[in-house]
Amino acid sequence: MQQDHHSCCSNGVCEISDPQLKTSTTGLCPQSGSKGKRVDGATVKAMLAVTLTEVRDTPYFFCKDADCPVVYFSEDGTQPFTTDQIRERVYQKEPDSDDVFICYCFRHTPRSIRSDLIVTGESTVVEGINAGIQAGQCACDIRNPQGSCCLGNVSAFIKEIRQTLHHNDE
Ligand SMILES: [Zn+2]
Repeated sequence: MQQDHHSCCSNGVCEISDPQLKTSTTGLCPQSGSKGKRVDGATVKAMLAVTLTEVRDTPYFFCKDADCPVVYFSEDGTQPFTTDQIRERVYQKEPDSDDVFICYCFRHTPRSIRSDLIVTGESTVVEGINAGIQAGQCACDIRNPQGSCCLGNVSAFIKEIRQTLHHNDE
């Protein structure tokens, strides 16, 4: 059983190619002040539902704060992009939604993962995603608003649901 999410991208298949991203600094969201995670410019361009004339050649960061409408912001904090300007609903911004994608490449939602767990007592989602990564089918950098692999989020979600189910059993 492959449960360790560190195995994701270790084969380099879905690793972000921009070497700058690995040495990048962190930015602080101009709205919430939370620490942003550096994202590839290609992710921002792929995700925007507005004209790309607003995109500048500067480092962008992803704000994962659920209470903050800002999804992407630039290093200097000007002209942030908010949830209503993004083509996808953003999992991190809707942690309690059942029908937002948690895995954008293979289209798993909290509801689909939860019902799988309740019905079968098991989840094959992580194995399925790993198999997809091995097969070169994932495109996290342009499909997932966070610009990186979803496996960490999926594993954390499954763990959380398991705990809830376990508590209900007692
Ligand atoms: Zn923010």
